[in-house]
Amino acid sequence: MTSRAVEITPGAPLTVLSEDEQMFQQSVREFATEKIRPLVPEMDRTATMSKDLIASFFELGIMGIEVPEQFGGAGSTFFNAVVVVEELSHVDASCGVLVDVQNTLVNNAILRWGNEDQKSKYLAMLARDSVGAYALSEAGSGSDAFALATRARQQGDHWVLNGRKLWITNAAEAGVFIVFANANPDAGYKGITAFVIERDFPGFSVGKKEDKTGIRASSTCELVLEDCRVPAQNVLGEPGKGYKIAIETLNEGRIGIGAQMIGVARGALEHAITYTKERQQFGQRVAEFQGVKFQIAQAATDLEAARLMVYNAARLKDARKPFLREAAMAKLFSSQVCEQVTSLAVQLFGGNGYTREYPVEKFWRDSKVGQIYEGTSNMQLETISKTILTDRL
Ligand SMILES: Cc1cc2nc3c(=O)[nH]c(=O)nc-3n(C[C@H](O)[C@H](O)[C@H](O)COP(=O)(O)OP(=O)(O)OC[C@H]3O[C@@H](n4cnc5c(N)ncnc54)[C@H](O)[C@@H]3O)c2cc1C
Repeated sequence: MTSRAVEITPGAPLTVLSEDEQMFQQSVREFATEKIRPLVPEMDRTATMSKDLIASFFELGIMGIEVPEQFGGAGSTFFNAVVVVEELSHVDASCGVLVDVQNTLVNNAILRWGNEDQKSKYLAMLARDSVGAYALSEAGSGSDAFALATRARQQGDHWVLNGRKLWITNAAEAGVFIVFANANPDAGYKGITAFVIERDFPGFSVGKKEDKTGIRASSTCELVLEDCRVPAQNVLGEPGKGYKIAIETLNEGRIGIGAQMIGVARGALEHAITYTKERQQFGQRVAEFQGVKFQIAQAATDLEAARLMVYNAARLKDARKPFLREAAMAKLFSSQVCEQVTSLAVQLFGGNGYTREYPVEKFWRDSKVGQIYEGTSNMQLETISKTILTDRL
């Protein structure tokens, strides 16, 4: 494994950041506020991600945060990926998820499971200029992901893949795809195999793009594999180990979605605070009514609790301590908090909150997906209850 374990400083407060972490946080916060914010309404309206922004993500070094420097990455930590996703999502959740999928799913899977050739080729591409996508879900297999119907069969020095993937984030922009297919259906989920596929491999194409409620600038597309020829050396890990790769990368990815959710909630709450401090009713500022300031105080408290859970899960991962339950809890709770806080923000804007002229309705729309992707809330509850009932509280 290339990623290093980061020492935990005993007694250190979770939200106190190291110099390196502060640097990432500050530079991304400034970038998001100055460069992303002005583009957000148009990207949302047209459901497109700015190509210039993607180029800037590579320039900033946030597309290969944990990728070792020898491959052109920042050689940094998972915690920093979480900090970056939170900061981006605080302004735009679509930018947040683009960078999140790149770092916590695609780069992580290759870092962890790739051989040296795959790492030097694909990690270098992903850190330099290629967006990555992660393709597990299909029309018939979402929560029951291992029931996937895409098939792979070996033919000499190639594999031939047939099937369709659905809901694939970053697919419109991606050059590199991690695709899961079953190479031995008789073995059930133990036939699932992960492949690294380049966009121009024969038989591979990106299909219909979804017209979504939220995170509209983030592309979500179908993938079509029609006798798609994949070189044998592009099996990630080994044949039959795909289920393990999927489970383990998604366990990590969930922390990133938690970070996206705390970013979205923070963005909405900040707007609500600014607005209620200006808006006057009954001869006083709306923020001064006890009924309102208590709601804001409660939202800020919930957000703080969610942030502590997300940061703790990320720090556990960096320290190579078990984090499965903590990651599931962090995603479950932060996505619930995000939906509540963004809804409150709309409420506190009154009628204005219900129009596209003001920013909060977008945060509300963007919040919902946190309870759906990378395992629905029920699937998180399933994981949490399993670990509690079979392990320890
Ligand atoms: C915007 C977006 C982006 C996405 N990006 C990606 C991506 O990049 N790559 C990828 O592979 N996938 C991606 N997905 C797919 C996503 O992971 C799935 O949508 C998700 O796992 C849920 O699957 P499903 O939609 O088939 O819902 P279903 O599994 O059909 O679930 C429907 C409902 O039933 C509930 N349910 C199902 N099984 C159980 C159970 N055993 N117990 C209790 N309740 C249950 C669920 O909680 C849910 O409420 C994305 C989805 C969206 C919406």
